[in-house]
Amino acid sequence: MTPPPGQHLPADHSKGDEGTLGGYMAVHARPAAFEGADGLSYSADIATDATGEHGPGRRAGAYLLFVRWTGDDPKIGGHVESGFLTFADTDAEAREALGRWRLADVKQLLDRLIAAPEPPAPAPPAAPEAAPAPARAAVDPAASGERGVVLSGTGGIWVVRTAAGETREVSLRGRLKQAGTLKLAVGDEVVLESGERGDGWVIREILPRRSTLARQSPAGARGERLVAANVDQVVAVFAAANPEPHTRMLDRFLIIAEGNSLAARIIINKIELVQPDEVRARFDAYQRAGYPVHYTSVKRGIGIEELHAVLDGRTSVFSGPSGVGKSSLLNTLYPGLNLRVGEISASVNKGRHTTVGALMHPLPRGGFVVDTPGLREVGMWGLPPEHLDRCFPEFRPMLGECKFRDCAHTVEPGCAVLAGVRAGTISAARHDSYAKLHAELVSGTPAW
Ligand code: GDP
Ligand code: ZN
Repeated sequence: MTPPPGQHLPADHSKGDEGTLGGYMAVHARPAAFEGADGLSYSADIATDATGEHGPGRRAGAYLLFVRWTGDDPKIGGHVESGFLTFADTDAEAREALGRWRLADVKQLLDRLIAAPEPPAPAPPAAPEAAPAPARAAVDPAASGERGVVLSGTGGIWVVRTAAGETREVSLRGRLKQAGTLKLAVGDEVVLESGERGDGWVIREILPRRSTLARQSPAGARGERLVAANVDQVVAVFAAANPEPHTRMLDRFLIIAEGNSLAARIIINKIELVQPDEVRARFDAYQRAGYPVHYTSVKRGIGIEELHAVLDGRTSVFSGPSGVGKSSLLNTLYPGLNLRVGEISASVNKGRHTTVGALMHPLPRGGFVVDTPGLREVGMWGLPPEHLDRCFPEFRPMLGECKFRDCAHTVEPGCAVLAGVRAGTISAARHDSYAKLHAELVSGTPAW
């Protein structure tokens, strides 16, 4: 626990004026207490955080944290926070400035905040002539909230598409950046509010996610990194040829999807470059494992239209090596997207990728596609080797049937998965992939 904020205030600064929040806290060495307009008890504390702004005098912000106490044996019954109220270069200065607020003003703000509807309703698209809001709520920017979806983010600026279809550049409210709170990712559904001076928009709240695509930091640093939120499916795109499909890489994409509990499907593009039977034989094992496989040619217009049925209205992460035709496919499906189509080159064939950071593109008939630099950065770090087997859906009916409970399905006698391989119900190539990836996970050096 942090010490009561009052202790940080210079004693002579505030002792004389108990009518201010800082003065009260310095004298009593604890947060100020109020009875809210709802008849419940609240303590008012000052908290600070980086605002995410770089200009002088606004780097740090202070806000009020009201904790609600309930019962005879008081327990914390929730809390209410204000937006940033004072700004300064340092936390201490911002805190001191807020400490000069009069207790009466603090109490008034508390009553405004508890009168605000919670959770905030999405703002109506445009209601210039709306009936006047109750006076208390009208002063509080937190009372109105507008929902949106995060499309991209770089350098602290996030692009959010509002429910009304507008695109806004917003910053993340400082407090949401604190360690321990959820990081923001593309695909996140958020609530916006206008900034303290009405000169911009900030993300006030990140709404609960229905799914995430996460990875460990590529440099081996600890901690999960969110690639995208609220994803419905992973779409692994490969070319039938030029570049040659890399099934081990495909297996990794599918494991990442399974590891994140996401549905997956496969697109094999440039189908006109090969004999259809040959390529179908190669991907038959995936179809049998339950992954839908779509064979397409952008060049010849084969298999494109039916992709609408599986992409429209959903959020899909497109991933695959450079040069397989991801941008070409999406541009053909959704002409407004205007994704850059790269010229295929030797370096592309080696797997070079140039995009940095995931980008989410809204689709005209609803849903989004997420363009990522490649799921290879997602990696499989953090997946315990003993969980790898359940990331192969075709193994699942056999799991639990092996002689040994901790069977690794590689060399063990009485292994039901190996029996499936011998019987031809499990593809030998998929099992081979499994064994190699298992060895990598056991040795702790997953490599691409
Ligand atoms: P991305 O890197 O996966 O986004 O791939 P691009 O869409 O940039 O396409 C890479 C190259 O493949 C471009 O030269 C495209 O014109 C070409 N390409 C895309 N689709 C097809 C296809 O169906 N057949 C053939 N032969 N080439 C294609
Ligand atoms: Zn086994």
